[in-house]
Amino acid sequence: MSNTQRRPAATAVRCLALLALAAAPPAAAQQPATPGQIRPRPAEGRDPEFPPPNIREYKPRSTLVVPVHLVPRAKYPAVDFHGHPPLLASPEIIDRVGAAMDSLNLMVMVSANGNSGERLRQQLAAVAASKYKDRFVFFTGLNLRDVGPGSGAKIAAQLEADVVAGAAGLGEIGKGFGLFAHKADGSRLTLDDPELDPVWETAARLKIPVFIHVGDPSEFFEPIDFHNERWLELSLYPDRRYQDRSRFPSFEELMAERNRLLARHPKVTWVLAHLGWHANDLARLGRMFDSLPHLYSEVGAILYDLGRQPRMAREFMIKYQDRLLFGKDSFQPDEYPYYWRVFESNDEYFDYYRDYHAFWKLYGLGLPDSVLKKLYYGNALRLTPGIPRSGFPK
Ligand SMILES: [Zn+2]
Repeated sequence: MSNTQRRPAATAVRCLALLALAAAPPAAAQQPATPGQIRPRPAEGRDPEFPPPNIREYKPRSTLVVPVHLVPRAKYPAVDFHGHPPLLASPEIIDRVGAAMDSLNLMVMVSANGNSGERLRQQLAAVAASKYKDRFVFFTGLNLRDVGPGSGAKIAAQLEADVVAGAAGLGEIGKGFGLFAHKADGSRLTLDDPELDPVWETAARLKIPVFIHVGDPSEFFEPIDFHNERWLELSLYPDRRYQDRSRFPSFEELMAERNRLLARHPKVTWVLAHLGWHANDLARLGRMFDSLPHLYSEVGAILYDLGRQPRMAREFMIKYQDRLLFGKDSFQPDEYPYYWRVFESNDEYFDYYRDYHAFWKLYGLGLPDSVLKKLYYGNALRLTPGIPRSGFPK
C-alpha cells in the first residue's frame, strides 16, 4: 500500500504535539508501509484519552514469562579484539582492568587505542612488569593529520618502528579517517588515497592485522526524522550527525571508498570494526566476505542488530565462522555479559544495555561450541601472531 495515504486529522494533531518536542520536520510522522503491513492501522483515528508519554518515558515492563539464563562469564576464554582500556601505564590500573577481565573470562584484551611511539612503549613496559603480562596486546595507530606528498612513507616508517617496539597490529584506525581527516591541501583524505599505499604495503609485509573502523551506522547519514531508527541517539549526540553533504560523504560513498581500499590491498589482513556497519544487512557483508578472502570483521557495539534477528544472525555466524572476531569497543565490564548471553543462550526477548541504540529486545543465538571458540579466540589468535597463547584451549 502507498505511503502517501491520508492520515486522519485526529492523529495529525497528536503527532504535532510530539513534533513540537522534536527537531524533525512535520512530514515525518507517518511511517511508510512495510511489506505485509495493513493501512490504515486499527485505531489510527482515535485519540488516547491520557496524554501520550514521550519517547523516553514509555518503558513498558514485559509480562512475558520465558526461561532466563544470565551468562556472567564467557564459556571459553575470549580475546577482546576491540578493547579500549584506560592508559595501561600504572600497576593499579593494570590490576583493576585485569581483575575485571578475570571475572568475565576475558583472557586477552587488544588495546585498540592506537597509541604510538612513547605512549606505546610506556604501556608495553608497564604491562610486561605486571602480573597480567600475557593478558594485553597493543595495536598502534597512524597520524593522518595533514597528509601530503611524502606522508605515506613517513607514516609507514612510524608503523614499522612501533611494530619493532612490540605492537601486534595496527588499529583501531578510527572513523575520523574518511569523515573528518583532511589533507594538507584542505581536501578530505579519502580512504583509498594512493599516498597511503606504503602504509598498507608495510602492514602486509609485517603480517600484522589492520583493524579499521569506517563511518558509522547508515542512519547517522540520513535525515533526522521520525522514520530514523536512531532518532533519539542523533538527538542526544550532535557529533553523530553526518547529514551535511558539504562536509561529509554519504554512507554509500564512504563504503565504496572503503571497498576500493580493501580490494586494492589483498595482501593485508583487514579487520572491519562493527561488522562494517552492515550488521543490519548481513547478506551484504556476506557478499563482501565471499569476494574478499583477506577480510575479517568484529562484532563490537552492534549487538542490538544481531540480537534482533537471531535466526539470520545465527546462520550468518555459522557460515562465516572463520571471519568473525569478538570485540566489545568501550570498556564497561558490566556490559560484556549481554554479549555472552546473545551468543551462547537461546533466551528470548531480553534487555539491551543502551536505550538509544535500540527500542527493541534481544534474542539469543545459541551458537554451537565450535563457532563460539573461533569467535571468542580462535580467529583472533590465527590473525595475530603477537597474542600470547597461554590460557587458551589447544
Ligand atoms: Zn573502537
